[in-house]
Amino acid sequence: MTTVLTNCKRIVVKVGSSLVTNQGAGLDTHAIGNWAQQIAALRKSGYEVVLVSSGAIAEGMQRLGWKQRPNAVHELQAAAAVGQMGLVQVYESCFRKHGLHAAQVLLTHADLADRERYLNARSTLRTLLSLGVIPVINENDTVVTDEIKFGDNDTLGALVANLIEADALIILTDQPGLYTTDPRTDSQATLVTVGQAGDEKLEAMAGGAGSHIGRGGMLTKILAAKRAARSGAHTVIASGHEAEVLPRLMQGVSIGTLLTASALSLDARKQWLADHLQVSGKVVLDKGAVRALCADGKSLLPIGVTEVIGDFKRGAVVAILDENRHDIAHGLINYSAAEATRIARHASHEIEAILGYVDEPELIHRDNLVLL
Ligand code: GLU
Repeated sequence: MTTVLTNCKRIVVKVGSSLVTNQGAGLDTHAIGNWAQQIAALRKSGYEVVLVSSGAIAEGMQRLGWKQRPNAVHELQAAAAVGQMGLVQVYESCFRKHGLHAAQVLLTHADLADRERYLNARSTLRTLLSLGVIPVINENDTVVTDEIKFGDNDTLGALVANLIEADALIILTDQPGLYTTDPRTDSQATLVTVGQAGDEKLEAMAGGAGSHIGRGGMLTKILAAKRAARSGAHTVIASGHEAEVLPRLMQGVSIGTLLTASALSLDARKQWLADHLQVSGKVVLDKGAVRALCADGKSLLPIGVTEVIGDFKRGAVVAILDENRHDIAHGLINYSAAEATRIARHASHEIEAILGYVDEPELIHRDNLVLL
């Protein structure tokens, strides 16, 4: 038993493609009906539940009679368009049996990267929850290209958890949870029952392999837990086949892997900055600037920037890289790429002489910067 989840009220439940489609064999209406019944029971007890469901592409492939997952993006998009119809149809009828309305919400990364659309999505989801409706979210696969993709629904689940400030993200999959090593090849592998979200040791345990049905593997789930923890959400990775998994988890029964978030969470605006998966540009820092940012909590000054990459406008979200080009922070930049290139390596008091004006002495102010 654990008390971590017993106080949670708002939860995001993510179900993976292989679960929803019975390993690609077609929508598993029985299993979906089961989760719907569990969600309905939680709703009755006062929980707010958002469902993130994969399975559109897998179901589309099944309906179109495709045996192999295509590589061409337009074919994947076509499959998603066909399959999404089936998904929402089943969710709608399953929730209806419990007197609940479901609502389809299809999101792209661009929806969450744009501050206004992000706030709109948030208020719509909150309104749906206050109306007692179960939002069923998927990526809007038919319009996204590789550059603007969330990529997998584990990441989408984490971003939705941050968006609505959920207390917990429950990732249901076809595995019992995270193992110390790959249980298929190592008989000594043991289930990790509890860990700290963001602990790098977990990433090594998770490896990289995904299934041939969905996009995410165990690693994307571990990274999703790290992401969700930024807004204070705890994550559970558990088997969707476990009986009454959702209500039992919320009662504190230990099932699968629980990855706890630390008490400190980012404020909503900083989370939004951190959740930009694609950024307009990058700035590379020298050692001194990295120290100023990471150890001393300072703003980023132009003098510490060795390189400016990409084309961006003032106010864009950029990635901040250390000397080894690791992504260490995100921030809203005060100068365009052309201006930043000119003032890089210069002291702030020189900005006026170089550009003919000064907008701000900092390239990125501390208030607009989040360490990753
Ligand atoms: N959005 C994709 C679908 O519904 C799933 C991505 C994933 O498997 O994580 O098919």
